[in-house]
Amino acid sequence: MTDLKDATRSPDWQDDVRQGVRHVRDLDRLPLSPAERAAAQAAAAHHKVRAPKAYLDLIDWNDPADPIRAQVIPSLGELVETEGELGDPIADHAFSPEPRLTHRHADRVLLFPTYQCAVYCRFCFRKESLTSIGRGYTREALEPALAYIADHPEIREVILTGGDPLSLPDNALAEIVARIEAIPHVRLLRIHTRVPVALPSRISSGLVEALQGRLMVTVVTHFNHAREITDATEVACRTMRQAGFVLLNQSVLLKGVNDSIEVLEELCRELMYRLGVKPYYLHHGDLARGMAHRRTTIAQGQALVEALRARLSGICNPVYVLDLPEGGGKVPLGSCPIEGRDGESWRIRGLDGAVRDYTEVVGE
Ligand SMILES: *Cc1c(COP(=O)(O)O)cnc(C)c1O
Ligand code: SF4
Repeated sequence: MTDLKDATRSPDWQDDVRQGVRHVRDLDRLPLSPAERAAAQAAAAHHKVRAPKAYLDLIDWNDPADPIRAQVIPSLGELVETEGELGDPIADHAFSPEPRLTHRHADRVLLFPTYQCAVYCRFCFRKESLTSIGRGYTREALEPALAYIADHPEIREVILTGGDPLSLPDNALAEIVARIEAIPHVRLLRIHTRVPVALPSRISSGLVEALQGRLMVTVVTHFNHAREITDATEVACRTMRQAGFVLLNQSVLLKGVNDSIEVLEELCRELMYRLGVKPYYLHHGDLARGMAHRRTTIAQGQALVEALRARLSGICNPVYVLDLPEGGGKVPLGSCPIEGRDGESWRIRGLDGAVRDYTEVVGE
């Protein structure tokens, strides 16, 4: 392990991008077998391939089932479409009153400044928007969405997502933030990003300054495995915490990546204790096409979060959610501890697994 001072001297983030995989032809530089390379090329034709060097360096190439590799190297499983899968699994488009905007809950909107990312995750639930829309940021493209937000005083929170908003240059981010800040009823700016995980060197003082201003800032990172937590990600998260940003994390439950209690326990513990990032959501794998090979059952997810609850401090526990198709929203899926009820008397399962009687006592 390098010491933190070395990590802060990490190469310029642009080198990290240049030396990573940016095009299908860059797959030739990776230690893949001919069959694996052919599979990766075929799958990359459907969902772009991209990964910065810093992220690729985390892969143990001797392990074909490596959990970091599984997240970024395309594989044939992605080409298998299973009945019931959906192109727009959480109905972003059905709730889009303007281009680049989704408004499903009164007080908050999703704003898509770009449909490009620093890393293309194989499990992406928005991958069909990334390929079919695929465009980057322009000032003009956001006009109708910003006008809509200005017209809707019930919107208090603007969530920049995409694509990856932090894949944009500092000046574009500063411009977007200034335009959101000018809308008086907006209180909080939230950023959903995988940059702190896949390209931590990008979290510079310039980037942080571009986001700072009138609004409360919350950055929701996307760590899926404890091996993604490194000296460089620690530095990136410290930079954001010192800027006063609230840091949360959402993970996706992925078969073969993090569907074991040991992996989830270490991930959630190290997020909170090492990075100061509060585990927020653990998403059940959505119905994106070509992802059946990475999905677990809901019962498996429930057993995992129940075990996690018994092992980890309350602040280290994420909420296990399913984002329902057709815009049903994110609903908690944790198993219910209530086993039965008789009037004021409830039978409730404790963290130790034992069921206890609990009688409600409520004053007049
Ligand atoms: C996920 C999502 C949000 C944010 O939901 P939270 O529960 O507040 O994190 C907002 N709008 C849409 C459309 C979403 O999909
Ligand atoms: S960074 Fe987000 S939007 Fe981009 S590929 Fe990964 S999951 Fe999808």
